[in-house]
Amino acid sequence: AKPTLGFIGLGQMGYPMAANLARHTAQTHSLLVHDHDAATAARFAAAHPQSASVAESARAIAERADVLFTMLPAGKHCRSVYADIVEGLRHDALCVDCSTIDVATATEIAKWVKAKGAKIVDAPVSGGTGAATAGTLTFMVGGTAADADTARPFLEKMGKNIYHCGANGTGQAAKICNNMMLGICMVGVSEAFTLGKNLGLAPTLLNQILNTSSGRSWCTDTYNPVPGINPNVPASKSYAGGFGVALMSKDMGLATAAASQTQTPIVLGAAAEQVYKRVAAEKDCKGKDFSVVYQWMAAAGEK
Ligand code: NAD
Repeated sequence: AKPTLGFIGLGQMGYPMAANLARHTAQTHSLLVHDHDAATAARFAAAHPQSASVAESARAIAERADVLFTMLPAGKHCRSVYADIVEGLRHDALCVDCSTIDVATATEIAKWVKAKGAKIVDAPVSGGTGAATAGTLTFMVGGTAADADTARPFLEKMGKNIYHCGANGTGQAAKICNNMMLGICMVGVSEAFTLGKNLGLAPTLLNQILNTSSGRSWCTDTYNPVPGINPNVPASKSYAGGFGVALMSKDMGLATAAASQTQTPIVLGAAAEQVYKRVAAEKDCKGKDFSVVYQWMAAAGEK
């Protein structure tokens, strides 16, 4: 029988990641998938009949998988899934947790898994749903070099840049730094476009200028928060899909918590956390992509 891969958590990111994995390993591996939402798992299996099938539970995946991926919303979901599956893990199985969670939870889960004789790396990603679909994600891997090497050929099916950062938890550390910067940047870009609008500048012109000037960033040239500037990003689709504002609020919280643990002063990170907390609670913004911060700010700044 072919070796077995497992994938738990088929959300905005997990679904397209698992789809790339299925597509590129159909000849060599079988793939078992599971999600809380049974309809999503069934839809996935139907779309990849060659290699994928639905497992009745996360535990059933653990009992069969040689390499098992998890892509869950937050630390509490990872805790509950790993607490559930850890007893069932095969000896020498490798777990690859791609969720963005706090360093302490990642290292604790790693201890549970290793105590059972299995292996684990944290491998959070950057790039958004577009990169997940295109298979061009950046992976930040924490774990032993040997385990990172075992994970690498699979991560290469889903991503383009794979960095081994150090021991378990260091992938999450890198990811938290990246997302704190992204969160701050999206607030900054939203402020600039709101100010530009109030000064009478057309957003498309301002964006062309920014993208050939020193204000350019991923938030201006790839994932612009102003509707209609970049096609196919959430901002151009009523902020649907993408990276939920509640998840960004969670990540800013991870950054501020890590900053207080290490006594690192992060003035802008702390301010941006407050912005996302507010936006995530706003009824017109709930459930939307985090770039909805522009809509919220533009409405507040309306002249
Ligand atoms: P999501 O909420 O769209 O997906 C999470 C999936 O996990 C859902 O399908 C949910 O049903 C499933 N799930 C939850 N609990 C479960 C359980 N106990 N057992 C099985 N399935 C369960 O989230 P997402 O946007 O895919 O993000 C996943 C992770 O990736 C988060 O940690 C997020 O911070 C991170 N991330 C997201 C993006 C992005 O652009 N969306 C980018 C980089 C990193």
